[in-house]
Amino acid sequence: MARVRKPVVPGWFAETDTGFRLLGTRCGTCGAVFFPREDFFCRAPGCDGTDLTEVPLSPRGTVWSYTDGRYRPPPYVSDPEVPWQPRTLVAVELAAERMVVLGQAAPGVPVGALRVGMEVELVPGVLGEDAGTVWTTWWWRPVETGGADGTYGAVGAGGGRDR
Ligand SMILES: [Zn+2]
Repeated sequence: MARVRKPVVPGWFAETDTGFRLLGTRCGTCGAVFFPREDFFCRAPGCDGTDLTEVPLSPRGTVWSYTDGRYRPPPYVSDPEVPWQPRTLVAVELAAERMVVLGQAAPGVPVGALRVGMEVELVPGVLGEDAGTVWTTWWWRPVETGGADGTYGAVGAGGGRDR
């Protein structure tokens, strides 16, 4: 039986006319953009706007910070029979929206391949699978800069913010 693909959080991302995007909302009164989306009341200080419309967020941003998660999640969220792979986590600054969005890096992107300020792009991802469902999410992936072999190479150790 084919498994159904479902977003791990409905309404936070989608395939749009301009590609895969995170979905935020923009206040019609003050122009503030929210992610996670705010659908009822503007959260900007001093604004009482309630006219919030969905907007796709920028598909590219720059690395603001990063780390990796080496602790295995507890057994009720992680099958102990399946080998555990550390996950690289990236905080990405979206210049146009003036916000930082957290997410996993795409598989095969170690912390050593990331640098603060590096350009990354949003790509569709998978958070996990069970018997009937593939749970979809978003991943951040370094924008290709000409590496022909598809790997990101070892550009040194490190992590965290350095500015
Ligand atoms: Zn507002």
